[in-house]
Amino acid sequence: MSTVVDPKHEDQSGRAGMTRRNFVKGAAVTAVAVPAVAATQSARMEPVADGKERADLEKYRALGGWVEKPDDMQPALEGDVSADVVIAGAGFAGLCAALELARQGAKVAVIEREFPGFGASGRNAGYLAGAMGFEYDLMFKGISKERATQIVRYYDDAVGFVEGKLREHDIDCEYVQSGWIRAGVHPSQEKKIREAMRIGAEHGHQSEFLDQTQMRARGIPPAFLFGEYTPTGGTLHPGKYVMGLRRAALRAGVKLYENTPLLSHAEGPVIQVKTPRGSVSAPVLMLATNAYTPQLGVLANKVVPLRISAIETEPLSNAQLASLGWPRREGIVTSHWSMESFRLTSRNTIISTVKRIHYPYGSKTPNVPAYDQYRELRTNLHERLPSLKDVALRHCWSGYISIAGDMLPVVGTTGANQNIYYTAGCSGHGLASQSMVGHMIAQQLGGTEPPLLAALRHDTPALPPEPFRWCLINGMLAGANTMDDWVNRKVRDAAA
Ligand SMILES: Cc1cc2nc3c(=O)[nH]c(=O)nc-3n(C[C@H](O)[C@H](O)[C@H](O)COP(=O)(O)OP(=O)(O)OC[C@H]3O[C@@H](n4cnc5c(N)ncnc54)[C@H](O)[C@@H]3O)c2cc1C
Repeated sequence: MSTVVDPKHEDQSGRAGMTRRNFVKGAAVTAVAVPAVAATQSARMEPVADGKERADLEKYRALGGWVEKPDDMQPALEGDVSADVVIAGAGFAGLCAALELARQGAKVAVIEREFPGFGASGRNAGYLAGAMGFEYDLMFKGISKERATQIVRYYDDAVGFVEGKLREHDIDCEYVQSGWIRAGVHPSQEKKIREAMRIGAEHGHQSEFLDQTQMRARGIPPAFLFGEYTPTGGTLHPGKYVMGLRRAALRAGVKLYENTPLLSHAEGPVIQVKTPRGSVSAPVLMLATNAYTPQLGVLANKVVPLRISAIETEPLSNAQLASLGWPRREGIVTSHWSMESFRLTSRNTIISTVKRIHYPYGSKTPNVPAYDQYRELRTNLHERLPSLKDVALRHCWSGYISIAGDMLPVVGTTGANQNIYYTAGCSGHGLASQSMVGHMIAQQLGGTEPPLLAALRHDTPALPPEPFRWCLINGMLAGANTMDDWVNRKVRDAAA
């Protein structure tokens, strides 16, 4: 039997860090890591300084900026029930799996600790994006070109998959099919972007380089000098997307138990999943718990949760919008090691995410504010979009993505009977890919394994135990931060 901590009472200590294998190479990492980690740690929960900043950072939301608890919360599980498949976790992955299983006629029970969208699916930036933006050279080390091409295809195809889901279930989630741009903010980033484009193209990803003239002609804010433009995908309202999936699943007859955490599971040909006031018995368990999976005693040495944060401004005035330009509203990410992202929403707010990434010791996922991350995002927003310096923040929030040591998706089965299915490790690119992988796992359960799912299977390398894991990940992240800070200093120096 696998037991887990009660998620409502988990350790609230979060310490800093991230993982990307080879994220920062060689000795440079070691040289910069330790002091930078120490600095990151001490900064984490500092109280905020001036009144305006304080007012902004107090806009913390324990949920993402996109979702509220549904009015029609489904009752928690009481007593013992059975199903053909029990799914733990109702984010994009769990709900897309449930929908496909219901279509096949299976009896599906979904148990969700809180409600759909409580996890990353309700906290993300809403970029519906394919393979662009990856550090391909790091991801594809040690795998064949054929497999790498399939992985790129998996991420790219997932965009069309979600577009199809929106149509199929009539989900209006403010989708803007604008494509997106991976931009450089300093000339030193051009080489990296061009190299990523070259590798992407070799593996089938289609994009084009926009030089400074083309970026200005598109009206992209001037901080973003040049970039890789991928025309597919765009931005959407992830809260409306996940709630649309929830509605569709309920309509399809999926039994959804909200406020129902999986506490433990007993393996066997029939798995028994324990919840606080009941149990579900089913021949198959699917863990669609993503970054929370290690706490369930599964994949604990294969994937780690990383905390990333987001800020959202108040709606911009017409004059502020005009000052920005940006008529096509392409989602923009930067080519920093820890990327920055900027997008406009349909309510004319700006959402900016990431910049700093933290690994919490022991793979915990405390739902607490990360003021240092909000402060960095806020300062950065003012630097990239200076005309918005006086715009107040509307919300700040944090969430968890999951990542494996080789940065590749983690999909497979476990347990003595190999009847526990899992998906995790989408490295913060899961809006499209976790939706499609959930669907593909359901197809596999129905008897047809899609070739793209088979292509994802591989041996995920084991991560070292704590405290080495914490030191390693945080060391790499600190090195990444140092390199990003160096680029940003050069941008500031050039502007001075
Ligand atoms: C700030 C931020 C920005 C991001 N931006 C983007 C983006 O723009 N584009 C993109 O592609 N990706 C983005 N991502 C990543 C993306 O949101 C995730 O990859 C995706 O939502 C993962 O979906 P999921 O269904 O696998 O997991 P989740 O949405 O995390 O769902 C897991 C669910 O499991 C539930 N759960 C946990 N433990 C238990 C338990 N014991 N029992 C029952 N249920 C449990 C949780 O409550 C949760 O609802 C971002 C993530 C964050 C945090």
